[in-house]
Amino acid sequence: MHQAGASALTQLLRYDPPDADLRTIPCPCGHSAHYKELRSKTVLTVLGPVKLRRPYYTCADCSKGQYPVDTELDLAGLESSPGVRRMEAVVGSEMPFAPGREPMKLLAGLDVTAKAIERAAEAIGTQIAQRDEQEIGRAKQLVLPVVFKQNIVKMYAERT
Ligand SMILES: [Zn+2]
Repeated sequence: MHQAGASALTQLLRYDPPDADLRTIPCPCGHSAHYKELRSKTVLTVLGPVKLRRPYYTCADCSKGQYPVDTELDLAGLESSPGVRRMEAVVGSEMPFAPGREPMKLLAGLDVTAKAIERAAEAIGTQIAQRDEQEIGRAKQLVLPVVFKQNIVKMYAERT
């Protein structure tokens, strides 16, 4: 099911070149960025890795490149979807980052690095703490039911 979901999502994330009237967009430097080509990157989502293909724009003036789609999807400069980053943050707030890879694999079928959990936990931890503490409480109940948590700790203790 994960597989089917991931390939359906890949279809959705296959953007076409922009229409003629959308080939020029503002650049933060004040000049304009022009559509150059479609570029792909792999993004880890809650359904597994998917390929994102989207338009790439460059500015002739400052030579900076940008991907408006990445900004829209909250993926700018990142390789994990917001959903995965939230899960990593929740897991990272519950246990050390390295063992946190275990529930990510067990509950979501995702292979992530301890570093990714650490980064997400720090980034989102601060963000959520400031904004909505209830949300992380709800997310914890969803992602880490008590029974799983105990099993994971046990599993871990046995292995080490
Ligand atoms: Zn520019």
